[in-house]
Amino acid sequence: MTEIPDDHPRAESLRTRHRIEDGVEKGITSKQGLIAEGRGEAFDYLLGERTLPSADDAERVAAAQLLLADHAVLSVNGNVAALVPGQMVELAEATGADVEVNLFNRTDERVDAIADHLRDHGAEEVKGLAADARIPGLDHERAKVDADGIGDADVVLVPLEDGDRAAALAEMGKTEIVVDLNPMSRSPRAAAIPVIDNVVRAIPRMTEHARDLADTPDDELERIVAEFDADEALAAAERAIRTGGDE
Ligand code: ATP
Repeated sequence: MTEIPDDHPRAESLRTRHRIEDGVEKGITSKQGLIAEGRGEAFDYLLGERTLPSADDAERVAAAQLLLADHAVLSVNGNVAALVPGQMVELAEATGADVEVNLFNRTDERVDAIADHLRDHGAEEVKGLAADARIPGLDHERAKVDADGIGDADVVLVPLEDGDRAAALAEMGKTEIVVDLNPMSRSPRAAAIPVIDNVVRAIPRMTEHARDLADTPDDELERIVAEFDADEALAAAERAIRTGGDE
């Protein structure tokens, strides 16, 4: 990886970009993933490349929701695998969730490469290889999920999901947590819990919250989730972008 000096004002953003480039070279990330990264960078720039207080709240709510789930699944696509493979495995461990490879541009080679990459980062079981269930309302390739993974889940975390699939998953009655830097994108708008933050910052924070909340009784976790206002979280991020201020 190209060396980026720590004192470069946008060092973290540049490192993230290089991780996506490496992902493409390793066959983990698709070329469309490069475009998604560019869109994400633009919004992150407008958000000040920091986690807004409203995003940190949403990350705590997401952790509470994952801990409450009967069967939580964390969905991993090519960008997520390139950016936060070990961090996704840690979040799965902290919340008792499964990890499933779930690709917009699905090829068996890329599913296998991502599954291997996740195992290299400590994952014991990776779902998404069976692809023996379908999300209703989507074309064949984009609909594929595992019957005992996302097909069976009551709570799904889908970072950087495409809008159609996010809407279709919500229609299946799944409680959806979406991480996306664009509060105007359809995916976070379809989510029960939209997290407007960079996955690079959001996933480790969710893990920290999950560890803090590990011994919290269910009724208290339920209260945390019930008090969350998704529309207000989206509006707060949009205000921060439009005003360049703090929300
Ligand atoms: P929709 O169909 O929901 O409107 P879209 O067409 O905007 O989605 P894409 O073109 O696939 O979706 O763009 C990728 C999305 O992923 C963008 O909304 C972008 O902000 C987001 N994104 C990219 N990189 C990151 C990242 N590192 N962290 C969080 N979100 C990201």
